[in-house]
Amino acid sequence: MTATVISGKEVADDIRAALREEVNGLKQHGILPGLAVILIGDDPASHSYVKGKIKGCEETGIYSEVVYKEAAITEGELLDLIEAFNENPNIHGILVQLPLPAHISEKAVIDKIRADKDVDGFTPVNVGNMLIGNDCYLPCTPHGIIELIKRSGQEISGKHAVVIGRSNIVGKPVAMLLLQENATVTIAHSRTQDLASVTKQADILVVAVGRAEMIGAEYIKPGAIVIDVGVNRAASGKLVGDVQFESVKEAAGYITPVPRGVGPMTITMLLKNTVEAAKRLAGLPQQ
Ligand code: NDP
Repeated sequence: MTATVISGKEVADDIRAALREEVNGLKQHGILPGLAVILIGDDPASHSYVKGKIKGCEETGIYSEVVYKEAAITEGELLDLIEAFNENPNIHGILVQLPLPAHISEKAVIDKIRADKDVDGFTPVNVGNMLIGNDCYLPCTPHGIIELIKRSGQEISGKHAVVIGRSNIVGKPVAMLLLQENATVTIAHSRTQDLASVTKQADILVVAVGRAEMIGAEYIKPGAIVIDVGVNRAASGKLVGDVQFESVKEAAGYITPVPRGVGPMTITMLLKNTVEAAKRLAGLPQQ
């Protein structure tokens, strides 16, 4: 069997086209969705992610404001910057690009972002609301993964989903969203014993480990949906996922590539949350 490749890029393009129309409509009502991005230091990967987010804003007509600060910025200065965006009526979404320099508390920074402008879905208020199924901004990568599975035409309900990874930004929230979609969910991590025996039960396998091409065909149940979240730079310089794409493609039913898989969806869900935030803050009904 050769898997169907789920193109995150194509799905993301469709959603962005719809967003562009929605933003145009909002502009006619005098509402211009605005995203503020704060980037600290000179990490090349962070700069590249921010570039992608700004490009996404340009494509969809969302106003964006990027503030670049040197790594020496104090925590207090960063918190003041966030506070200014909290109060700025032209800004509906605030994103602080992670990771932060070691002297700045990630918790303090996330806590400072107003929950109704937290378009990354990282604040405790949003995470709590997601957990109990309340209306909230869903975290972008997990939300993008759910959309990708749904738009591939595959049912989630009743399937056994295995998530490898339990980070706060990917593993835990995607497991929670899969549960809300009525999957039976198993979360595996670095202490899981006999990982392959667990993953071979997965109808849906989400891999968010951060280890280049760790998952080969021997981990896959034939016909499974395999979502590769990993973004790793191989020794050759090539961008690769956590999954061995070529061999797993021969065992799985559906598979996402890297690049052009989960990555474009993450940014697209951020844009979607920003548009929702603009509607929410303007008192308009949301989706
Ligand atoms: P983290 O490093 O925070 O988490 C990795 C998880 O993998 C941990 O829970 C860890 O377990 C688990 N793990 C590590 N080694 C093993 C192993 N040998 N067997 C089983 N589990 C293991 O990573 P993130 O969740 O932040 O990111 C994961 C990957 O996804 C990275 O490559 C990252 O770049 C990528 N990513 C991609 C995004 C996109 O938009 N495409 C967005 C966000 C992330 P334990 O908890 O026990 O240590």
